Amino acid sequence: MANSKFEYVKQFEQPDQLLPNTWVVVRIDGRGFTKFSTKYGFEKPNDKRALDLMNAAARAVMSELPDITIAYGVSDEYSFVFQKSCTLFERRASKLVSTIVSTFTAYYVHLWTSYFTDIPLSPPLPSFDGRAVCYPSIQNLRDYMSWRQVDCHINNLYNTTFWALIQLGGMDATEAEQSLKGTFSADKNEILFSKFHINYNNEPEIFKKGSVIFRDYELVEPGTHNVVEEVEKMAEPIQQSKSQAEKDKKKRAKAPIVIEHLDIIKDDFWDRRPWLLS
Ligand code: ATP
Ligand code: ATP
Ligand code: MG
Ligand code: MG
Ligand code: MG
Ligand code: MG
Ligand code: MG
Repeated sequence: MANSKFEYVKQFEQPDQLLPNTWVVVRIDGRGFTKFSTKYGFEKPNDKRALDLMNAAARAVMSELPDITIAYGVSDEYSFVFQKSCTLFERRASKLVSTIVSTFTAYYVHLWTSYFTDIPLSPPLPSFDGRAVCYPSIQNLRDYMSWRQVDCHINNLYNTTFWALIQLGGMDATEAEQSLKGTFSADKNEILFSKFHINYNNEPEIFKKGSVIFRDYELVEPGTHNVVEEVEKMAEPIQQSKSQAEKDKKKRAKAPIVIEHLDIIKDDFWDRRPWLLS
C-alpha cells in the first residue's frame, strides 16, 4: 500500500468496537412511515402486504448474514440479534449497522413490486435508520425481545380499537382518541366485543404477536440437556473445538430460515430452541 501525506486523516476515525461476548442487537426503523403508509394507501391498522414485505426483506438480510440467529419485527421496525461470539467487521458498530440497514433497504425496494403489485415506488423512497445495542446476559436479551413484543401487543390492541371506532363506528380520529383516553386493555377488549362483535383473540397472529425469524434446527424437548456431554466438550483440545465450530457454522448456514408469529416472552419458545441463545 502506497503511503501519502494525506494518510494521517485516517487517525481521525474513532473506534466503535462493540463489547465482546455480548449479544448485539441491531434495530432498524422506517423513516417517516406514518406519511409513507398514507402515500401508498396501507390498510389501517395493519396492511398485510407491508408486513409480508418487511418479513421478506428481513429474511433476505438473515440469509446474507449467517451470524444473525434471530430477528423480530413489528410495524416498520426489525431487530436483528447477532450470536454473542460474532466477530464480523471486528464488531464495529458503524459497519454492522450500516450493512444491515443498506441490505434491508435494498431488498425492501427490490421486493416492493412483489407485494404492492399495482403501485410502483417513487421518490421519496423508503429509508431506515438503525442502531446497535449490546446485551450482556440472556435475561437482558430476552427482556429486550419481550419489550418489543409487549410493545407490539399494546400498540396493536390500541390501533385495532381506534380504527374499529373510525371504520365501523363512524367516529373521526379525534372522537376515537377521546373515547380511548384512560382505557385499560380490558376496556378495549370490551369495546371491540360489545360494539363491533370483534373478539380480539381471533385477530391474526401476525398482527397480535409480530414476526419472529430464526434458523430452524431440530426442536429440543425441554429438560434434555446432556450435562456430561457439555462438560466433555469443554475439555476437548482447541483443535477439535475449532472443527466443531466449523461444523456448527456449516449447519447454521444450511438450516432453513422460518418466519413464525409466536410468543417469545414465555420460556417455551427459548427452551425448545437452545441454539438461539448459545
Ligand atoms: P420515525 O421516522 O420517527 O420512525 P414514523 O412515522 O415511521 O416516524 P413510527 O413510530 O416508526 O413512526 O411508526 C410507524 C408508522 O408506520 C405508524 O404510523 C404505523 O401505523 C405505520 N405502519 C407501519 N407498518 C404498517 C402496516 N403494516 N400497516 C399499516 N401501517 C403501518
Ligand atoms: P469490503 O467489503 O471489505 O469493502 P471490497 O471488495 O468492496 O471489500 P474495497 O476495498 O471496498 O473492497 O474495494 C472495492 C472493489 O470494487 C475494488 O476491487 C474495486 O476495483 C472495485 N470497484 C469499485 N468500483 C469500481 C468501478 N467503478 N469499476 C471497477 N471496479 C470497481
Ligand atoms: Mg425512528
Ligand atoms: Mg418509523
Ligand atoms: Mg416504528
Ligand atoms: Mg472501498
Ligand atoms: Mg468495499
